[in-house]
Amino acid sequence: VNSKLPNAGTSIFPVMTGLANEYNAINLAQGFPDFPTSPQLISLVNEYMKKGMNQYAPTAGILPLRERIAEMTASLTGRTYSPDTEITITAGGTQAIYAAIEALIRDGDEVIIFEPAYDCYSPNIRVHGGIPRPIELTPPDYKINWDNVKKLISHKTRMIMINTPHNPTGTILSKDDIDELINITKDTDILILSDEVYEHIVFDGKEHHSMAKYPELAERSLIVSSFGKTFHTTGWRLGYLLGPAYLMAEIRKLQQFAIYTCITPIQYAIADFMANPNNYLEVKEMYQQKRNYFASLMKATRFNLLTVGGSYFQTAHYNKISNEGDYDFAVRITKEFGVATIPTSVFYTSGTDNKVIRFCFAKKEETLDRAIERLIKI
Ligand code: GLN
Repeated sequence: VNSKLPNAGTSIFPVMTGLANEYNAINLAQGFPDFPTSPQLISLVNEYMKKGMNQYAPTAGILPLRERIAEMTASLTGRTYSPDTEITITAGGTQAIYAAIEALIRDGDEVIIFEPAYDCYSPNIRVHGGIPRPIELTPPDYKINWDNVKKLISHKTRMIMINTPHNPTGTILSKDDIDELINITKDTDILILSDEVYEHIVFDGKEHHSMAKYPELAERSLIVSSFGKTFHTTGWRLGYLLGPAYLMAEIRKLQQFAIYTCITPIQYAIADFMANPNNYLEVKEMYQQKRNYFASLMKATRFNLLTVGGSYFQTAHYNKISNEGDYDFAVRITKEFGVATIPTSVFYTSGTDNKVIRFCFAKKEETLDRAIERLIKI
Protein backbone atom coordinates (compact mmCIF):
# COMPACT_ATOMS: atom_id res chain seq x y z
CA VAL A 1 0.00 0.00 0.00
CA ASN A 2 0.88 3.65 -0.30
CA SER A 3 1.71 4.09 3.39
CA LYS A 4 0.45 7.15 5.24
CA LEU A 5 3.43 6.86 7.59
CA PRO A 6 6.21 5.53 5.36
CA ASN A 7 9.00 6.26 7.83
CA ALA A 8 7.37 5.03 11.03
CA GLY A 9 8.81 1.92 12.66
CA THR A 10 7.57 0.15 15.78
CA SER A 11 7.27 2.39 18.84
CA ILE A 12 10.25 2.11 21.22
CA PHE A 13 8.01 1.05 24.15
CA PRO A 14 6.90 -2.36 22.85
CA VAL A 15 10.35 -2.82 21.30
CA MET A 16 12.12 -2.51 24.67
CA THR A 17 9.42 -4.45 26.52
CA GLY A 18 9.79 -7.24 23.97
CA LEU A 19 13.55 -7.27 24.46
CA ALA A 20 13.14 -7.23 28.25
CA ASN A 21 10.85 -10.27 28.05
CA GLU A 22 13.12 -12.09 25.63
CA TYR A 23 16.18 -11.63 27.88
CA ASN A 24 14.31 -11.95 31.15
CA ALA A 25 15.39 -8.44 32.08
CA ILE A 26 13.82 -6.12 34.67
CA ASN A 27 11.65 -3.76 32.65
CA LEU A 28 12.36 -0.16 33.65
CA ALA A 29 11.71 0.82 30.04
CA GLN A 30 8.01 1.15 29.18
CA GLY A 31 6.20 3.35 31.68
CA PHE A 32 3.73 1.27 33.67
CA PRO A 33 3.43 0.37 37.36
CA ASP A 34 4.26 -3.20 38.42
CA PHE A 35 2.24 -2.83 41.64
CA PRO A 36 -1.53 -3.41 41.79
CA THR A 37 -4.27 -0.85 41.53
CA SER A 38 -6.59 -0.27 44.49
CA PRO A 39 -8.68 -3.37 45.42
CA GLN A 40 -11.55 -0.97 46.11
CA LEU A 41 -11.41 0.31 42.54
CA ILE A 42 -11.37 -3.25 41.20
CA SER A 43 -14.41 -4.14 43.35
CA LEU A 44 -16.23 -1.11 42.01
CA VAL A 45 -15.60 -2.23 38.43
CA ASN A 46 -16.95 -5.68 39.33
CA GLU A 47 -19.98 -4.19 41.04
CA TYR A 48 -20.88 -2.03 38.09
CA MET A 49 -20.46 -4.93 35.70
CA LYS A 50 -22.74 -7.06 37.88
CA LYS A 51 -25.25 -4.23 38.14
CA GLY A 52 -25.52 -4.28 34.36
CA MET A 53 -23.66 -1.13 33.39
CA ASN A 54 -22.39 -2.92 30.32
CA GLN A 55 -23.93 -1.04 27.43
CA TYR A 56 -22.95 2.06 25.46
CA ALA A 57 -22.00 5.18 27.35
CA PRO A 58 -22.57 8.62 25.80
CA THR A 59 -19.82 9.78 23.41
CA ALA A 60 -18.73 12.44 25.90
CA GLY A 61 -18.48 9.82 28.67
CA ILE A 62 -20.87 9.16 31.55
CA LEU A 63 -22.03 12.33 33.29
CA PRO A 64 -20.95 11.43 36.87
CA LEU A 65 -17.38 10.94 35.70
CA ARG A 66 -17.37 14.27 33.87
CA GLU A 67 -18.75 15.87 37.03
CA ARG A 68 -16.01 14.40 39.22
CA ILE A 69 -13.37 15.60 36.73
CA ALA A 70 -14.89 19.09 36.76
CA GLU A 71 -14.76 19.14 40.59
CA MET A 72 -11.19 17.88 40.72
CA THR A 73 -10.00 20.35 38.09
CA ALA A 74 -11.78 23.25 39.78
CA SER A 75 -10.19 22.42 43.12
CA LEU A 76 -6.69 22.05 41.66
CA THR A 77 -6.69 24.85 39.08
CA GLY A 78 -9.52 27.22 39.94
CA ARG A 79 -11.13 26.78 36.52
CA THR A 80 -14.55 25.17 36.22
CA TYR A 81 -15.06 23.19 33.03
CA SER A 82 -18.62 22.42 32.05
CA PRO A 83 -19.31 18.66 32.16
CA ASP A 84 -21.89 19.22 29.43
CA THR A 85 -19.72 20.89 26.85
CA GLU A 86 -16.07 21.04 27.93
CA ILE A 87 -15.05 17.54 29.11
CA THR A 88 -14.80 14.38 26.99
CA ILE A 89 -13.71 10.92 28.07
CA THR A 90 -11.22 9.25 25.72
CA ALA A 91 -9.61 5.84 25.31
CA GLY A 92 -6.44 6.90 27.13
CA GLY A 93 -4.15 9.88 26.74
CA THR A 94 -2.84 8.77 23.36
CA GLN A 95 -6.34 8.60 21.86
CA ALA A 96 -7.10 12.03 23.35
CA ILE A 97 -4.08 13.45 21.53
CA TYR A 98 -5.11 11.69 18.32
CA ALA A 99 -8.69 13.02 18.59
CA ALA A 100 -7.56 16.60 19.20
CA ILE A 101 -5.18 16.61 16.26
CA GLU A 102 -7.66 14.82 14.02
CA ALA A 103 -10.30 17.45 14.74
CA LEU A 104 -8.12 20.54 14.53
CA ILE A 105 -5.17 20.03 12.18
CA ARG A 106 -5.58 20.40 8.43
CA ASP A 107 -3.23 19.96 5.49
CA GLY A 108 -0.28 22.29 5.77
CA ASP A 109 -0.93 23.41 9.36
CA GLU A 110 2.27 23.68 11.35
CA VAL A 111 2.52 22.34 14.88
CA ILE A 112 5.40 23.30 17.15
CA ILE A 113 6.63 20.43 19.28
CA PHE A 114 9.45 20.26 21.81
CA GLU A 115 11.87 17.40 21.38
CA PRO A 116 12.57 14.94 22.87
CA ALA A 117 8.83 14.53 22.24
CA TYR A 118 6.60 11.62 23.20
CA ASP A 119 6.60 9.34 20.21
CA CYS A 120 2.98 9.68 19.07
CA TYR A 121 3.04 13.46 18.58
CA SER A 122 4.84 13.72 15.27
CA PRO A 123 3.13 10.75 13.50
CA ASN A 124 -0.28 12.00 14.64
CA ILE A 125 0.41 15.42 13.17
CA ARG A 126 1.76 14.03 9.90
CA VAL A 127 -1.01 11.52 9.34
CA HIS A 128 -3.49 14.40 9.47
CA GLY A 129 -1.56 16.45 6.93
CA GLY A 130 0.11 18.71 9.49
CA ILE A 131 3.78 19.62 9.60
CA PRO A 132 5.64 19.09 12.88
CA ARG A 133 8.10 21.91 13.61
CA PRO A 134 10.40 20.54 16.30
CA ILE A 135 12.41 22.63 18.73
CA GLU A 136 15.21 20.70 20.37
CA LEU A 137 15.70 20.82 24.12
CA THR A 138 19.02 19.68 25.56
CA PRO A 139 20.18 18.29 28.88
CA PRO A 140 20.81 18.87 31.66
CA ASP A 141 17.72 21.05 32.12
CA TYR A 142 15.87 20.73 28.76
CA LYS A 143 14.79 24.39 29.06
CA ILE A 144 12.71 25.91 26.28
CA ASN A 145 14.42 28.77 24.45
CA TRP A 146 11.38 30.94 23.78
CA ASP A 147 13.22 33.15 21.27
CA ASN A 148 13.56 30.06 19.09
CA VAL A 149 9.83 29.44 19.46
CA LYS A 150 9.09 33.03 18.38
CA LYS A 151 11.25 32.57 15.28
CA LEU A 152 9.31 29.47 14.24
CA ILE A 153 5.91 31.09 14.52
CA SER A 154 4.22 32.20 11.31
CA HIS A 155 0.70 32.45 9.90
CA LYS A 156 0.94 28.68 9.29
CA THR A 157 1.36 27.89 12.99
CA ARG A 158 -1.87 26.27 14.13
CA MET A 159 -0.83 24.64 17.37
CA ILE A 160 1.87 24.39 20.03
CA MET A 161 2.12 21.09 21.89
CA ILE A 162 3.08 21.27 25.54
CA ASN A 163 3.92 18.37 27.81
CA THR A 164 4.32 19.02 31.53
CA PRO A 165 5.46 17.01 33.47
CA HIS A 166 7.45 15.98 30.44
CA ASN A 167 7.96 12.52 29.05
CA PRO A 168 10.74 11.35 28.61
CA THR A 169 12.75 13.96 30.57
CA GLY A 170 10.64 14.46 33.70
CA THR A 171 11.07 18.25 33.49
CA ILE A 172 8.21 20.62 34.30
CA LEU A 173 7.28 24.05 32.97
CA SER A 174 7.98 26.98 35.28
CA LYS A 175 5.86 30.08 35.81
CA ASP A 176 8.32 31.94 33.55
CA ASP A 177 7.63 29.44 30.77
CA ILE A 178 3.92 30.03 31.25
CA ASP A 179 4.41 33.81 30.98
CA GLU A 180 6.36 33.34 27.74
CA LEU A 181 3.65 31.10 26.35
CA ILE A 182 0.98 33.66 27.21
CA ASN A 183 2.99 36.39 25.52
CA ILE A 184 3.74 34.42 22.40
CA THR A 185 0.18 33.28 21.80
CA LYS A 186 -1.76 36.42 22.71
CA ASP A 187 -3.31 38.14 19.70
CA THR A 188 -2.90 34.95 17.65
CA ASP A 189 -5.29 32.09 16.93
CA ILE A 190 -2.69 29.47 17.88
CA LEU A 191 -4.13 26.52 19.80
CA ILE A 192 -2.34 24.69 22.60
CA LEU A 193 -2.54 20.94 23.05
CA SER A 194 -1.24 20.30 26.54
CA ASP A 195 -0.37 16.77 27.57
CA GLU A 196 -0.60 16.76 31.37
CA VAL A 197 -1.02 13.06 32.02
CA TYR A 198 1.51 13.17 34.90
CA GLU A 199 -0.27 16.18 36.48
CA HIS A 200 -0.45 14.60 39.95
CA ILE A 201 3.17 13.46 40.01
CA VAL A 202 5.29 16.53 40.79
CA PHE A 203 8.19 16.49 43.26
CA ASP A 204 9.91 18.54 45.93
CA GLY A 205 7.00 20.88 46.63
CA LYS A 206 7.02 22.22 43.05
CA GLU A 207 3.83 23.31 41.34
CA HIS A 208 2.21 21.75 38.29
CA HIS A 209 1.38 24.64 35.97
CA SER A 210 -1.70 23.41 34.18
CA MET A 211 -2.94 25.47 31.24
CA ALA A 212 -6.25 25.46 33.13
CA LYS A 213 -4.82 27.84 35.74
CA TYR A 214 -4.26 30.66 33.25
CA PRO A 215 -7.39 32.00 31.55
CA GLU A 216 -5.43 33.40 28.57
CA LEU A 217 -4.09 29.89 27.91
CA ALA A 218 -7.13 27.87 28.97
CA GLU A 219 -9.36 29.47 26.36
CA ARG A 220 -7.08 28.25 23.55
CA SER A 221 -6.02 24.94 25.16
CA LEU A 222 -7.02 21.33 25.03
CA ILE A 223 -5.69 19.55 28.07
CA VAL A 224 -5.04 15.81 28.05
CA SER A 225 -5.03 13.67 31.18
CA SER A 226 -5.06 9.98 31.97
CA PHE A 227 -6.54 7.72 34.63
CA GLY A 228 -3.94 5.09 33.80
CA LYS A 229 -1.17 7.20 35.28
CA THR A 230 -3.11 8.25 38.35
CA PHE A 231 -4.78 4.96 39.31
CA HIS A 232 -2.10 2.51 38.06
CA THR A 233 -4.37 1.19 35.32
CA THR A 234 -2.55 1.86 32.05
CA GLY A 235 -4.26 -1.14 30.44
CA TRP A 236 -7.76 0.19 31.03
CA ARG A 237 -7.23 2.87 28.39
CA LEU A 238 -9.19 5.72 29.88
CA GLY A 239 -8.29 9.38 29.83
CA TYR A 240 -9.97 12.65 29.04
CA LEU A 241 -9.81 16.00 27.29
CA LEU A 242 -10.66 19.39 28.78
CA GLY A 243 -11.19 22.42 26.60
CA PRO A 244 -13.46 25.24 25.56
CA ALA A 245 -16.82 24.21 24.11
CA TYR A 246 -16.10 25.49 20.58
CA LEU A 247 -13.14 23.11 20.29
CA MET A 248 -14.72 20.25 22.21
CA ALA A 249 -17.76 20.24 19.90
CA GLU A 250 -15.48 19.47 16.94
CA ILE A 251 -13.71 16.71 18.81
CA ARG A 252 -16.96 15.06 19.89
CA LYS A 253 -18.29 15.28 16.36
CA LEU A 254 -15.41 13.12 15.11
CA GLN A 255 -15.17 10.97 18.21
CA GLN A 256 -18.71 9.63 17.66
CA PHE A 257 -17.62 8.23 14.29
CA ALA A 258 -14.20 7.03 15.45
CA ILE A 259 -14.51 5.10 18.72
CA TYR A 260 -18.11 6.18 19.45
CA THR A 261 -17.83 5.67 23.23
CA CYS A 262 -15.44 4.36 25.90
CA ILE A 263 -15.85 1.40 28.28
CA THR A 264 -18.88 1.97 30.50
CA PRO A 265 -18.47 0.07 33.83
CA ILE A 266 -14.96 1.37 34.44
CA GLN A 267 -16.16 4.93 33.97
CA TYR A 268 -18.73 4.42 36.75
CA ALA A 269 -16.13 2.82 39.00
CA ILE A 270 -13.64 5.66 38.52
CA ALA A 271 -16.37 8.26 39.11
CA ASP A 272 -17.13 6.68 42.51
CA PHE A 273 -13.45 6.32 43.34
CA MET A 274 -12.75 9.97 42.54
CA ALA A 275 -15.41 11.12 44.98
CA ASN A 276 -12.64 10.72 47.56
CA PRO A 277 -9.95 13.24 46.48
CA ASN A 278 -7.36 11.34 48.48
CA ASN A 279 -7.48 8.61 45.86
CA TYR A 280 -5.88 10.89 43.27
CA LEU A 281 -3.93 13.19 45.59
CA GLU A 282 -2.00 10.37 47.27
CA VAL A 283 0.04 9.49 44.17
CA LYS A 284 2.18 12.58 44.66
CA GLU A 285 3.63 11.42 47.97
CA MET A 286 3.82 7.79 46.84
CA TYR A 287 5.88 8.68 43.76
CA GLN A 288 7.97 11.24 45.64
CA GLN A 289 9.08 8.40 47.90
CA LYS A 290 9.78 6.09 44.98
CA ARG A 291 11.76 8.82 43.20
CA ASN A 292 13.82 9.47 46.34
CA TYR A 293 14.35 5.76 46.92
CA PHE A 294 15.45 5.08 43.35
CA ALA A 295 17.68 8.17 43.19
CA SER A 296 19.43 7.24 46.44
CA LEU A 297 20.04 3.67 45.26
CA MET A 298 21.38 4.96 41.92
CA LYS A 299 24.21 6.79 43.77
CA ALA A 300 25.97 3.45 44.02
CA THR A 301 26.10 3.18 40.20
CA ARG A 302 28.16 5.02 37.58
CA PHE A 303 25.09 6.71 36.08
CA ASN A 304 24.71 10.48 36.52
CA LEU A 305 21.14 11.38 37.29
CA LEU A 306 19.55 14.46 35.73
CA THR A 307 17.13 16.55 37.78
CA VAL A 308 13.48 15.60 37.35
CA GLY A 309 10.54 17.73 38.47
CA GLY A 310 7.75 15.24 37.87
CA SER A 311 6.45 12.11 36.06
CA TYR A 312 7.50 8.57 36.99
CA PHE A 313 10.70 8.73 34.99
CA GLN A 314 14.30 9.35 35.94
CA THR A 315 16.79 10.27 33.21
CA ALA A 316 20.51 9.61 33.48
CA HIS A 317 23.76 10.18 31.57
CA TYR A 318 25.92 7.12 31.07
CA ASN A 319 28.99 8.93 29.69
CA LYS A 320 31.19 7.65 32.52
CA ILE A 321 30.36 4.13 31.38
CA SER A 322 30.39 4.05 27.60
CA ASN A 323 30.69 6.01 24.34
CA GLU A 324 28.09 3.89 22.58
CA GLY A 325 25.00 5.45 21.05
CA ASP A 326 22.11 5.40 23.49
CA TYR A 327 20.05 2.85 21.55
CA ASP A 328 22.96 0.41 21.32
CA PHE A 329 23.76 1.01 24.98
CA ALA A 330 20.16 0.40 26.10
CA VAL A 331 19.93 -2.78 24.04
CA ARG A 332 23.29 -4.04 25.32
CA ILE A 333 22.56 -3.49 29.01
CA THR A 334 19.22 -5.23 28.57
CA LYS A 335 20.93 -8.29 27.10
CA GLU A 336 24.10 -8.33 29.21
CA PHE A 337 22.96 -6.93 32.55
CA GLY A 338 19.24 -7.60 32.53
CA VAL A 339 17.81 -4.09 32.93
CA ALA A 340 15.73 -2.53 30.16
CA THR A 341 15.54 1.27 29.76
CA ILE A 342 14.51 3.72 27.04
CA PRO A 343 17.08 5.57 24.89
CA THR A 344 16.05 9.22 24.46
CA SER A 345 17.49 9.81 20.96
CA VAL A 346 14.41 8.12 19.46
CA PHE A 347 12.35 11.11 20.61
CA TYR A 348 14.25 13.55 18.38
CA THR A 349 13.39 13.81 14.66
CA SER A 350 17.08 14.48 14.02
CA GLY A 351 18.15 11.51 16.15
CA THR A 352 20.18 13.77 18.49
CA ASP A 353 21.96 11.52 20.94
CA ASN A 354 22.74 13.15 24.28
CA LYS A 355 23.76 9.80 25.80
CA VAL A 356 20.79 9.96 28.13
CA ILE A 357 18.54 7.01 28.96
CA ARG A 358 15.22 6.95 30.82
CA PHE A 359 14.35 4.71 33.76
CA CYS A 360 10.77 4.14 34.91
CA PHE A 361 10.62 3.92 38.71
CA ALA A 362 6.88 3.16 38.98
CA LYS A 363 7.88 -0.18 40.47
CA LYS A 364 7.76 -2.07 43.75
CA GLU A 365 10.74 -1.41 46.01
CA GLU A 366 11.84 -5.01 45.56
CA THR A 367 11.91 -4.51 41.77
CA LEU A 368 14.02 -1.37 42.17
CA ASP A 369 16.32 -3.23 44.59
CA ARG A 370 16.82 -6.07 42.12
CA ALA A 371 17.47 -3.58 39.31
CA ILE A 372 20.15 -1.78 41.32
CA GLU A 373 21.95 -5.04 42.05
CA ARG A 374 22.36 -5.32 38.30
CA LEU A 375 22.99 -1.64 37.52
CA ILE A 376 25.94 -1.38 39.96
CA LYS A 377 27.76 -3.99 37.87
CA ILE A 378 27.66 -1.83 34.72
N1 GLN B 1 3.65 6.29 28.28
C1 GLN B 1 4.46 5.13 28.46
C2 GLN B 1 5.92 5.50 28.44
O1 GLN B 1 6.28 6.60 28.16
C3 GLN B 1 4.27 4.05 27.44
C4 GLN B 1 3.08 4.11 26.57
C5 GLN B 1 3.19 3.17 25.43
O2 GLN B 1 3.63 2.05 25.57
N2 GLN B 1 2.81 3.63 24.29
O3 GLN B 1 6.74 4.65 28.67
